[in-house]
Amino acid sequence: TKSVTTEISVEELRELDKKHFLHPTTPIKEQQVEGPELIFESGKGIRITDVNGDEYIDGVSSLWNVNVGYGRKELAEAASEQILKLSYGSSFFNQSHEVVIRLATKLASIAPGDLNVSFFTSGGSESNETAFKIVRHYWKLKGRPEKRLIIGLENGYHGVTMGTTSATGVPEFKNMITEIAPGFLHALPHQTECEKGDKSHPNYERSIRGIIEKEGPENIAAVILEPIQGVGGVNIPPEGYLKSVRDLCDEHDIFMITDEVITGFGRTGKMFGVEHWDIVPDLMCVAKGITSGYVQLGAVMMSSKLRDELADMSEGPMFHGFTYSGHPTACAVALKNIEIIENEGLVENAREMGEGLLKGLKYLEENHKITAKARGLGLMAAIELFKDPETGEGFAPELFAAPAVVAACKQRNLILRPLIFGGMNAVAIAPPLISQKQDIETIIEILSDSIKEFEQKVL
Ligand code: PLP
Repeated sequence: TKSVTTEISVEELRELDKKHFLHPTTPIKEQQVEGPELIFESGKGIRITDVNGDEYIDGVSSLWNVNVGYGRKELAEAASEQILKLSYGSSFFNQSHEVVIRLATKLASIAPGDLNVSFFTSGGSESNETAFKIVRHYWKLKGRPEKRLIIGLENGYHGVTMGTTSATGVPEFKNMITEIAPGFLHALPHQTECEKGDKSHPNYERSIRGIIEKEGPENIAAVILEPIQGVGGVNIPPEGYLKSVRDLCDEHDIFMITDEVITGFGRTGKMFGVEHWDIVPDLMCVAKGITSGYVQLGAVMMSSKLRDELADMSEGPMFHGFTYSGHPTACAVALKNIEIIENEGLVENAREMGEGLLKGLKYLEENHKITAKARGLGLMAAIELFKDPETGEGFAPELFAAPAVVAACKQRNLILRPLIFGGMNAVAIAPPLISQKQDIETIIEILSDSIKEFEQKVL
């Protein structure tokens, strides 16, 4: 078979992929032997088409990032116009260019609270890595270099560089390297009572507060957490949790870094995730939805107060910057992408469609024998699979429950994502923010049929 639009055959593409391409987060053996599961060719709206011409609903916005959907002409035009005008412009050595200034200004106008200064990167890992370096740099300039430890949460995911892998609490990612970077610690997530100070709680020692107490606040630089843990299972914090962490950080002069790489730019039904709980972090890391994945971009945001403090303490440059920090094409696309999100009311749409999606997942929970813990906020949702939801007994690992359900969805032309870290069997659902009622209904229907198929096999 010929691929739809190119001269090269599908078989040939598959062979060349096997031969020359090492994929990210993919079983190396499987890819080497069988080749890629899907080879995409085009995308439009919430749908994506492979080289065989089969069309799929992208129920996870690729990597939770294609917020405005595929194939938007406005974004292609924004990129093309910018490339023709100024294809590259550095902001090293105190240089600048118009579109990066306009984007920094736009971000200042939409970010929570007093966050109004941006440092640009090319993605989520680089943003978090930058935040770690900035907080350590800050305490060093303050004459307190021992205030260097960074606390992340178990099941948190912050990226794949050495620093961000070390901050990550998803075991499979963290365990890839023999030894994590020094200075990273992990606390149990969502221990509101402990963070408020309940020392009698059985989890106290493993809470953020317990760890701060043990290590000494004079040694802790920052806490990093996702407003809603994504890769670790779409884990929504209990009411009051983020506020308890904010208060704890204030109490001990510790930076609160929020990783809004997934939750930013409308995904959860607010422009930024922390807005659900009305807190403002000291540093906020974004990426993904900032350009809806059309080009690579990330940012770290902070208050001008923090920037001014850094300025007052510094002599000479801050020796940190990526060649592609504030790339003009990425900034132009981000500006247009944010304009689309605002003009089309996509934050409100995510909230509204998210309500329908959660209702649908709750319906599945009630009508299938193996489902439980349906959860979601906006268009970031998941449902979990158990052999016995009553007792919480999970499926044997060799059944690959969530991957099997996701494979059954794929047979029905719906792409979802299994979240199987730490023995969990969850299915993540996070379609583009342009999804309509009918799309959500189709997703729920297909997921229901796929769960039924798996139930018939195993029950
Ligand atoms: N932080 C979170 C919460 C993420 O979900 C991801 C990626 O999935 C990252 C950071 C890493 O971002 P990137 O893959 O752009 O480096």
